[in-house]
Amino acid sequence: MEARLLLSLPEGFEVTNIERTDGILTISAVSTQKSACCPLCSSAATRVHSSYTRTLADLPCAGQQVLLLLQVRKFFCQVVTCARKIFVERIAPFIEPWAPVTARLHQMVQMIGFATGGMLGARVTERLGTPTCWMTIIRRMMALPTAPVEQVSELGIDDFSFRRGRKFGTILVDMQSHQVIDLLPDRKKETAAAWMSLHPEIDLVSRDRGGDYAAGAREGAPQATQIADRFHMYKNVGEAVELTLARCRAEIRNGAFHTLAEEERKVVEPLSLSTEFVSVENWKPAPDACTERERLPRHAERHDRYAQVIALRGQGFGNTEIARRVGLTARTLQNWQKKGSFPEVGRRRKRASRFDPYASYVLSRWEQGCQNGSQLYREIKEQGYTGQERQVHRFLLPLRKNVRIIQKAQVPHASLQDFSAKDAVWLFVRDPATLDEKAQVTLTAICQASETARTTYQLVQEFRHMLHHREGEKLDDWLAKVTMSHIRELQSFVLGVERDKAAVVAGLTLPQNNGLVEGKVNKLKLIKRMMYGRAEFPLLRQRVLHAL
Ligand SMILES: [Zn+2]
Repeated sequence: MEARLLLSLPEGFEVTNIERTDGILTISAVSTQKSACCPLCSSAATRVHSSYTRTLADLPCAGQQVLLLLQVRKFFCQVVTCARKIFVERIAPFIEPWAPVTARLHQMVQMIGFATGGMLGARVTERLGTPTCWMTIIRRMMALPTAPVEQVSELGIDDFSFRRGRKFGTILVDMQSHQVIDLLPDRKKETAAAWMSLHPEIDLVSRDRGGDYAAGAREGAPQATQIADRFHMYKNVGEAVELTLARCRAEIRNGAFHTLAEEERKVVEPLSLSTEFVSVENWKPAPDACTERERLPRHAERHDRYAQVIALRGQGFGNTEIARRVGLTARTLQNWQKKGSFPEVGRRRKRASRFDPYASYVLSRWEQGCQNGSQLYREIKEQGYTGQERQVHRFLLPLRKNVRIIQKAQVPHASLQDFSAKDAVWLFVRDPATLDEKAQVTLTAICQASETARTTYQLVQEFRHMLHHREGEKLDDWLAKVTMSHIRELQSFVLGVERDKAAVVAGLTLPQNNGLVEGKVNKLKLIKRMMYGRAEFPLLRQRVLHAL
């Protein structure tokens, strides 16, 4: 087989030599075409002036780096009137003039760049046999032109953060084609307005509730109908729900505790009030010695500060003066005062562990009386547990102290002992038909335990229904109900709705409304992670607009 075909070189070349030194395959080739076209007058020329060798990197061959030594010629243009007397034969599109690499290698590096980013791309190209430094990869990515934005009639607009949440930009989505059409480097009203004013064809803008994008759209696209984005309405309602639930956490916990105490007292051993109930899902290991070593001095420091505050207050000092002496903000002191007790630092969040899938099993063995950590470790190891034995012991420690881990199936209500408003929000805002049995049990328990929670749930579900079935005409009724309800968190949501009512009604009525933009924002997050947080705006924009 001819070497030219094997290497997929364009016609008009002949391979004259292949040699391998230091792992690099050097391929020499000469141009054999009889004539070449003058780039200026396009007429064919046959008189050769001279020849020279171009050195180019090419795609790797069977994992080996490839260097192409291409002998190309200069021709005389034979058209007397042509201004170009001598020219180099063109080999485009295989090789662009002046390029140090073949076009196909250029494209491959570009593609790797878009898929992996600069730093990782450098490692990938090295493995593939075309080592390319990350600066070059990024330069290649930036060199790819972006298609101009075409007509857009329905625009979705939202912000996103980059540089680890320190800077914000704007993402623009065509709501009909579901494509990201542009990114803007900030989230200012002026920038958004300027972009929109270049698109007089926009007739609908979907944006978050109120704020800069609303102002930007009024200025840049006054012809467009504005709608409050459904995602943000859900999000704002969710925030109100979280605040409400956090406020009545004690009510929920106590309510559930009484239910538990009445119904389950016979089943569960005698309860002491200091017993902590934790559902098996939220079973956390005891902190390791290292974390504990860090935590204890901090705790001690806080405790000491607290004692100092109490003492100073006893001497009659005001918050401002105490704050200055102790090194805290007056705000913190007010919070402490409100709580009226030593502020415990927030609970550690549950992190996923290899132990989790075996938690239920270990718990039931424990309850059967097998309380030997090493034995339990051996048993679950046989079932496929790949974690360390130490971890098993750490999980058992809370059981040996004053914590009761509860299998949800046994005592569903008890799970509210570690009730978290943040985790419960989704139970409130989602369609109840989509909740699984466990979630429904929890939801029912919360609503049984607290009247505030119950009212909140009804109102939020009415709102969800209205949003889902596009019943904008019911909005006024709903607003009135919330105003009557005395749930202040929802009332402040309602105040926001009143301020932006036209867009909210449009959002509740028009069919173009979903979490589309938000999905795209999640895609951005993915890309940013891949960029190791180095995402400077122009590069990020380039990657998003050229995402594979
Ligand atoms: Zn010419």
